[in-house]
Amino acid sequence: CGIFGIYNHREASNLTYLGLYALQHRGQEACGIVSSDGQRLYSHKSMGLVADVFGNPEIFRNVPGDSAIGHVRYSTTGDSVSKNIQPILVNYSRGAIAVAHNGNIVNSQLIRAELEAWGSIFQTTMDTEIIVHLLAASKASSLEERMVEALNRIKGAYCLLFITETRMVAVRDPHGFRPLCLGKLGESYVVASESCALDLIEAEFIREVEPGEMIVIGRGGITSHFPFKKVKPSHCIFEHVYFARPDSYIFGKTVYLVRKELGRQLAREHAVDADIVIPVPDSGVPAAMGYAEESGIRFELGLIRNHYVGRTFIEPAQSIRHFGVKIKLNPVREVLKGKRVVVIDDSIVRGTTSRKIVKMVRQAGASEVHMRISSPPTSYPCYYGIDTPNRKELISSSHTLEEIRRYITADSLGYLSHEGLLTAVGGDKESFCHACFSGDYPIGFPRLGPEPQLD
Ligand code: 5GP
Ligand code: SF4
Ligand code: MG
Repeated sequence: CGIFGIYNHREASNLTYLGLYALQHRGQEACGIVSSDGQRLYSHKSMGLVADVFGNPEIFRNVPGDSAIGHVRYSTTGDSVSKNIQPILVNYSRGAIAVAHNGNIVNSQLIRAELEAWGSIFQTTMDTEIIVHLLAASKASSLEERMVEALNRIKGAYCLLFITETRMVAVRDPHGFRPLCLGKLGESYVVASESCALDLIEAEFIREVEPGEMIVIGRGGITSHFPFKKVKPSHCIFEHVYFARPDSYIFGKTVYLVRKELGRQLAREHAVDADIVIPVPDSGVPAAMGYAEESGIRFELGLIRNHYVGRTFIEPAQSIRHFGVKIKLNPVREVLKGKRVVVIDDSIVRGTTSRKIVKMVRQAGASEVHMRISSPPTSYPCYYGIDTPNRKELISSSHTLEEIRRYITADSLGYLSHEGLLTAVGGDKESFCHACFSGDYPIGFPRLGPEPQLD
């Protein structure tokens, strides 16, 4: 998911709409904005893309005021139905509050069961809703204290943006799984999942919100707090591999440069005699450029993407996927004909995309097709906010390299090594989560009953 908020700007909801537009890649299922005019909160949300939900300027009349938060959703917990759209807005004895969440709370089932036993009635199936129930249940007197009390109960990945009648609060979990940054536009503060959203509205990037940091923005300015126990950070390495936009600056690096380096490292590890290097667009482009640079093999665009088709992976129904590859990509026959081709992609999940692409490239006349992947095999599901499928659907959880090569019908297959991934991303190796590649989960996942997703 993606979150965006702006405090103290005449066109708060309009700019939030633009911010969400820049973050559309983080979720395409639904979106929403909650605004404040200093007296009360207003909400507009719906299933669909940002441009469809907010494309009509009349809509901004529904979300007036000088502060707003917004959310783009793709479902990791909770069903893909309209009641599960964020921000979640509630009114309780102390006023109104709305929250937008990027991440995934791993102990939400336990807390939810406990709250239900005390009489809470939940409106949605989203893990995020427990946060507002915990807030309402807290006896602490200030909003900040209630938030800290509530958040001390939850475990997992969360970047949160809260809005009340008079304030906006941004929180990043102590592990810092998901990115979050702070910016300024004139006298207004802006918070966004990725810096590309600041760029669009011409806000100045100030800094990343730090892991475990809580930033409270009010009429009197901005205050920063570190109310949680400090832990070793676990930045999601997959944000660098695939999820974030390449023009964003996250975890201290520009994603594009990291991806190029992943490609260079991949070329060092898995060299091959070939005539051209082509990316699977768009996600494979920077890594393919790096591979081409390092190997000296010519870079070409051998597959052209139709940009008017959404990122199919983000839609939950698998039935759409097969159709997805063909509708999205088309080979350039004259580029591929008679060539030994290296195809670069960022990851193999189920393997269905790679299989179709290899066949497509071969049918277009390539004499050899060598698949190179700019991350290690994705063998484990994510519990921290990325919608990787169950273990049994991940092809590399149950198949050897050679079996996968045969399945995708490539002449050769090479994945970036675990060490190579950490080296290419750079910085402190200990500061990343790489559980979907390594199975090394930084936070356990307590649940009710048997673990449903690990079979
Ligand atoms: P598959 O192997 O399942 O057919 O698909 C792999 C492709 O899905 C890659 O091109 C990758 O860029 C894309 N993709 C889209 N969303 C995701 C995601 O959330 N996780 C992973 N690993 N790949 C994704
Ligand atoms: Fe990111 Fe993978 Fe860790 Fe999930 S498991 S947070 S996708 S690195
Ligand atoms: Mg891709």
